[in-house]
Amino acid sequence: MAAFWFHSARLPTGWAQGVRIEADSHGLIAKIETHADRDGAEVISGVAVPALANVHSHAFQRAMAGLAEFSDGGRDDFWSWRERMYAFLQRLDPDDIEAIAAQTYVEMLKGGYGSVAEFHYVHRDPSGDWYSDKAATARAIVRGAQTAGLGLLVLPVVYLTSGFDGAALKPRQMRFDCAPQDVADIRSALEKDGVRTGLSLHSLRAAPESAVVEALALSPSGPVHIHVAEQIGEVEACLAQTGRRPVERLFDLAPVDDRWCLIHATHMTPEETKRVSLSGAVAGLCPSTEGNLGDGLFDLPGLEAHGGRFGIGTDSHVSLNAPEELRWLDYGWRIQQRRRFAEGRAGHRGADLWLRAVEGGARALGESKGGLQLGARADILALDANHPTLAGRSGDLILDALVFCHQGNPIRTVISGGVAAVRDGRHPHEAAIAKRYAQTLSKLVA
Ligand SMILES: [Zn+2]
Repeated sequence: MAAFWFHSARLPTGWAQGVRIEADSHGLIAKIETHADRDGAEVISGVAVPALANVHSHAFQRAMAGLAEFSDGGRDDFWSWRERMYAFLQRLDPDDIEAIAAQTYVEMLKGGYGSVAEFHYVHRDPSGDWYSDKAATARAIVRGAQTAGLGLLVLPVVYLTSGFDGAALKPRQMRFDCAPQDVADIRSALEKDGVRTGLSLHSLRAAPESAVVEALALSPSGPVHIHVAEQIGEVEACLAQTGRRPVERLFDLAPVDDRWCLIHATHMTPEETKRVSLSGAVAGLCPSTEGNLGDGLFDLPGLEAHGGRFGIGTDSHVSLNAPEELRWLDYGWRIQQRRRFAEGRAGHRGADLWLRAVEGGARALGESKGGLQLGARADILALDANHPTLAGRSGDLILDALVFCHQGNPIRTVISGGVAAVRDGRHPHEAAIAKRYAQTLSKLVA
């Protein structure tokens, strides 16, 4: 049992003073008191807000962030970026994955995330054979998260085909080859070691109907994540092959409900947006990656109009800064629609976005709730109220400033699952983790 005391904290009901939070051995909040005494609790300076859960990560892609920002003058889009990504990952071994994951996860903590859902699809060795341990690469992710002290949900990915027509995997996709039973095997191997897992379907182009049905039968409960509609080309290919758009097709194949997190729900019709909103599924949005790859803009006002849920993912890790993701998410539609707030949504926009991303993120990671309340994960940020970003702000103006006026990082302490992983803006092992990461990169980029 760990106990922390904060001068003030943003609870779901509002700001409270003298807040004492106790976490149990599972990292969940077991007790919260306001106007509490400090006895026996660690006093954490700064104001406490809930950390976000990061709903979408491919940790290895952190190592190629910034390496694909040049053009040969031809057409560059998601698909040309993907070719570069495939070339890069041909060299990765499990040790490399561990080193990259540890660095990525330390950065993630410092950027405002307390836990992550790792959408893990590099399963096999570079020649396309299984490692002697089918869970070898997934275990590398687990070690990286343990080194960093970040909460982790591993989502081993079903990946079988290279298109909606059921075409075989291409040579550069052979490391991803993974059937529903393989995913079940990897999950049970990890769960024996106490690692939390869920199911991922890479996309409907990589998981044919029979695999979707089998995977869901093998995984009757817990989180299910899928890349759903990132690209116009993907929507067109799905329409051509099945007569249905990917989101429609998914609802035909599966009982989409609040277990589901639909990653990159970018290209949806208003009817699809409504359907996703009402299903209880979380829209998993990755604004900096979606911007970097030129994917398209998500219809946030459409989701909000129907009370839909969303969570934030950092996907390719071109940014590991949670406030920046929310700013991009809101600026995208503001620019497009030439307005600042949707009518009928009174209140503090930054605080509203932050707290909804907390709640959606927690749900997407299979938690029953998010935020600083009983039963939620004890994922807590302490912000330096005297940092220039926040100076003179109080109440929900703190979260408004955090999201929309981010002049340097005011996050000082990051508690993940009831354990302080970052203190005073520093991770205790950051120098060693960064050194190993740099050595890994010099080998990979050579
Ligand atoms: Zn992704």
